[in-house]
Amino acid sequence: MTDHTAHPVGFIGLGVMGAPMAANIVRSGRRVLVHDVDAEVTARVAADIGAVPAVELSELTECSVVVLMLPTSAVVRSALLDEGGRPRVAFEGGTVFVDMSSSDPTETVETGGLLREAGLRMVDAPVSGARERAIAGTLSIMLGTDDESAADLAVPVIEAMSSAIFRTGKLGTGHAMKALNNFVAAAAFTAAAEALVAGGRFGLVPAVMVDVLNASTGQSFVTQHVMGPHIVEGAYASGFALPLFTKDVRIAERLQRAMGHTSPVCDAVAATMGDALEALGPVDHTRAHEFWSTR
Ligand code: NAD
Repeated sequence: MTDHTAHPVGFIGLGVMGAPMAANIVRSGRRVLVHDVDAEVTARVAADIGAVPAVELSELTECSVVVLMLPTSAVVRSALLDEGGRPRVAFEGGTVFVDMSSSDPTETVETGGLLREAGLRMVDAPVSGARERAIAGTLSIMLGTDDESAADLAVPVIEAMSSAIFRTGKLGTGHAMKALNNFVAAAAFTAAAEALVAGGRFGLVPAVMVDVLNASTGQSFVTQHVMGPHIVEGAYASGFALPLFTKDVRIAERLQRAMGHTSPVCDAVAATMGDALEALGPVDHTRAHEFWSTR
């Protein structure tokens, strides 16, 4: 039997999340080849975490598992496939691509099909928990696959990033779950930000509002970890960009439409975040509160 742990692991996309996730794979004892479209980022992260820099994608062809942590489904597809839908480089047959980005489930199924035609395999394993839990190795991970033998190769690599792995079903279900999770989180964020604006105008002290929410039924991840430091105290540095968060809610909206479900709450959250994105551009998502507070 082939010992796949002898093969290096590839990692594409070394941003806010990718860099600490790749670091944890290095810590688990695997040799990791890291690649980012930005060559300076590739060199810096490789040196920081003890990985091997792969300036070109073609340097990853010896890997049996390649993790992707990229902004969108479109970027995942164009990183791996050319415009005709064929692999950009000659990966070994059976290579497993683990898309841990927050991608669109429909596009994941399409890209997975194109990879399968070329003898390659894909599983989806998006994450929740922000940079802090990426560093700690305690992310929530949602694993979707049509191919158990691909999962067998992927899981030991994923386990280096967290032991909290939820098996969600067929290929794309991890990404569907992630988008729906982030819709719920965005609903909590927009609601909390709206309450903070109204409360402040009525004369409530924002810090007291956060304390009350956290001891009451309005409590959520947003009130516990985001509102205090990043909005009330003004750090505006959660590490989760507004375009990425808005993208996730729009994926959830498309999914609900495709399922024939009317989704007034998701539509309102997507429109509210879309307004902020249009006005602010690529800022930390918490800046949206500042924008909404001026309306
Ligand atoms: P980021 O923008 O910090 O990192 C993305 C990295 O991908 C960048 O370094 C960029 O240079 C690189 N990249 C872009 N195109 C590339 C290509 N074609 N080939 C190679 N590298 C390329 O983003 P992030 O915050 O790390 O998010 C990554 C993914 O994880 C997104 O899908 C996001 O929605 C999701 N996510 C983010 C968070 C968070 O808190 N930031 C939490 C959970 C999930």
